[in-house]
Amino acid sequence: MIIDIDKLPRDGLSLSRNFEFPSLDLVEEEAVFLRPVKAEITIKRVGEDVWIKGRITTTMSFVCGRCLTPYEFPVDSVFDLVYLPEEAREMKEELGEDDLERLFCRGRRLNVREVVLEQLNLTFPPKPLCSSDCEGICSVCGKVRREGDCGCQVKETDLRLDKLNALKKDG
Ligand SMILES: [Zn+2]
Ligand SMILES: [Zn+2]
Repeated sequence: MIIDIDKLPRDGLSLSRNFEFPSLDLVEEEAVFLRPVKAEITIKRVGEDVWIKGRITTTMSFVCGRCLTPYEFPVDSVFDLVYLPEEAREMKEELGEDDLERLFCRGRRLNVREVVLEQLNLTFPPKPLCSSDCEGICSVCGKVRREGDCGCQVKETDLRLDKLNALKKDG
């Protein structure tokens, strides 16, 4: 979706739409989309600047770097960008070919899809973990998962939750 910034309405442009990306476009290539990316974006010209405000929401599945188990990663991110066409033109001389590819606004055109993708990638953790204290081992028997399936069916945390819920009902 390409926006011609010279044809933006005076009051700006608001849009709400879903985007889908292949996992290969993500910084985390093992991530999988559980639903499309919903983007609500407002684009407005203020003098020579282009203001881009928005919110992206989606749910992804990441693979934990320690226990290799997929886990859900909800994304709900707001952003507030100012694009300066003049600055970008000066920057071009310092940038390589790859950087130019990544510039989401080329000339007088704004690629909304690229903006959404860039913002999405920024929300990702540097190292995906199902939880910050994941040790990559079975929570019941303590065996390292990658050494083989221990066959445990019941998770300790689930048991605790059941007990908690039972207590709440009794009280
Ligand atoms: Zn884990
Ligand atoms: Zn186990």
